[in-house]
Amino acid sequence: MSGFNPFEIIPGDPSRSLVILGDHAMNRLPTEYGDLGLPAEAFKRHIAYDIGVEDVTRGLCASLGVPSVLGCFSRLLIDPNRGEDDPTLIMKLSDGMVIPANHPLSVEERDRRLNLYHRPYHDAVATVIAETWRMSGKPPLVISLHSFTHAWKGVGRPWHAGVLWDTDPRAAQLLIDLLSADPELVVGDNEPYDGALRGDTMHRHCSMTGLPHALLEIRQDLISEKSGVDSWVDRLSPILASMADRQDLHQVELHGSRVI
Ligand SMILES: [Zn+2]
Repeated sequence: MSGFNPFEIIPGDPSRSLVILGDHAMNRLPTEYGDLGLPAEAFKRHIAYDIGVEDVTRGLCASLGVPSVLGCFSRLLIDPNRGEDDPTLIMKLSDGMVIPANHPLSVEERDRRLNLYHRPYHDAVATVIAETWRMSGKPPLVISLHSFTHAWKGVGRPWHAGVLWDTDPRAAQLLIDLLSADPELVVGDNEPYDGALRGDTMHRHCSMTGLPHALLEIRQDLISEKSGVDSWVDRLSPILASMADRQDLHQVELHGSRVI
């Protein structure tokens, strides 16, 4: 049995009924996995985790006093933002780099990673959402934080941030509008990725349950240094506080999904 904790709960005041998630916040591996056969530098890259997200999440939790759940294992071990039957749950290849310990992968090893890391993380997310709901007396708004690379396959990405969503527009459209009020920001609407992915964290914990939610992607070079982290915490704190104050973002509404 591994002594590795697959998640960290940042405790917070439930009264705002806001929960922040950081699926890919960390690049750690349980010691028995060594380095998955990869060079150490791979774990400093986006293929292993979302650069900057841990610090932005901790900053927002400190500023707003709200709870959070952070994933503590590298997405190269198993990706918490994928459904259990998703073919990219355990990547054999990421951004051109083969992951030796993931290929070939036995069914037993896949189940082990699900049982020890992926499922405990999602159990923690479900628990924190349920506890926040119970203690605040209203359905929580859930914000998921991620970061993306400034370029992909040699093509630059113009966005500073992107809001990903499936079919529930409530929190996503408002977040896009509030971020776009800053003329310096280029904000993607379902860019650089589409937010409809069956079985991912938002699909599982929010789209399927009717909780208001949005996934915010921040370009990683903007939050890779402390000054950038601080400025994004300062930018997002009042935005998330104002969203959490809205009663229409504490209602259960089922909007379905494009990927059921
Ligand atoms: Zn991510």
